[in-house]
Amino acid sequence: MKLSHRITNITGGGSDGWDVFYRARRMIDAGHKVIELTIGEHDIRTHPSILDAMNKAAVSGRTGYAEVPGSFALRDTVAARIQERTGVPTTRDNILITPGGQAALFATHNAVCDHGDTALYIDPYYATYPGTIRGIGAVPKSIQAHAENDFQPKATDIAAAAKGAKSLLINSPNNPTGVIYSAETMAEIAQVCIDNDLWLISDEVYDTQIWEGTHLSPRALPEMAERTLVVGSMSKSHAMTGSRIGWICAPAEVITHLINLATHTTYGVPGYIQDAALFTLDQGTALEAEIAAPFERRRALTLKALEGQNVVRSVPVQGAMYAMFDIRSTGMSGEDFAFALLDAELIATMPGESFGQAAAGHIRIAMTINDDAYVDAIKRLVAFAKSQVKT
Ligand code: PMP
Repeated sequence: MKLSHRITNITGGGSDGWDVFYRARRMIDAGHKVIELTIGEHDIRTHPSILDAMNKAAVSGRTGYAEVPGSFALRDTVAARIQERTGVPTTRDNILITPGGQAALFATHNAVCDHGDTALYIDPYYATYPGTIRGIGAVPKSIQAHAENDFQPKATDIAAAAKGAKSLLINSPNNPTGVIYSAETMAEIAQVCIDNDLWLISDEVYDTQIWEGTHLSPRALPEMAERTLVVGSMSKSHAMTGSRIGWICAPAEVITHLINLATHTTYGVPGYIQDAALFTLDQGTALEAEIAAPFERRRALTLKALEGQNVVRSVPVQGAMYAMFDIRSTGMSGEDFAFALLDAELIATMPGESFGQAAAGHIRIAMTINDDAYVDAIKRLVAFAKSQVKT
């Protein structure tokens, strides 16, 4: 029996770029003490107060089918949060609650692209982007943001790819680079979208992790609210990766159709998760600041550990939980370096190439282990890089 091209082609047939990660996991299974700086998962678990709220909701009966678009209370709270942070008038009619940001990425592309349409995204990119686009039957087309431009995409490059495209997906603060798009970059992106009649899908799942500069949601720019679909998530902001809770903020008409899509796919998010999310958002910003704090601290530790040498250079780490290191001075590819580092030092990192060709010659570090072990790992990484430089 033949499966659909759409589903068999999700990965595009190539390697998924996670070979170093898998090798590290095999080494761990074999008893090796590998330090993993690979995936974007906090080193703390979901806060006990959130689990209490989840438990209370479940015990009180919120275990049946829940509101498919999300409860009114939760949608109202998410809308108020977005309005407060962006100044853009936002109501529950602009909000769909989704099982995480990934489901929101799939649904938003489904909403704006037809089969065979071209959907643009920026390279370096979060690993699932091209597969998500293929998964809805559209054609992914990447636009490189260059290391030389601190991984800020250029309007001219986007405009050159925009002809005939339907949508553009951006992510700031960015995974994998840790870069935040400047106000200038965002204004240029908005203008390209307007000029080329593109939908903009703005993945803002790291919007509570800002270390330098400011996060600007492009939905707040003139004429953009009507063409922007924002993807939000509580995975990173509240260490709720396993709870699968996020949202889409979009024009009301788009949300109406997305509710139909949710009815025919996910059938919403469990009521006890929704209630726990509502409880969490009602706590205000203190909890998210507490969850973000270790990454801000480790960012400072990263920069300090890199001082006094220029073999390993960091891309400006402005937000999110990652640092991107430029190791081109070793003459190695990111992949060769990451494999060699794993074998020699038992430190697992992600090759830049896993996130697209624009990040070749780089490695991504997830700042997700305790401070002392982290600093030690970075120092050993730097010493290893130095040993690889051909003199
Ligand atoms: N977007 C980006 C940029 C991410 O890094 C992630 C998770 N690593 C997601 C979306 C999806 O997150 P989730 O589905 O857990 O909300």
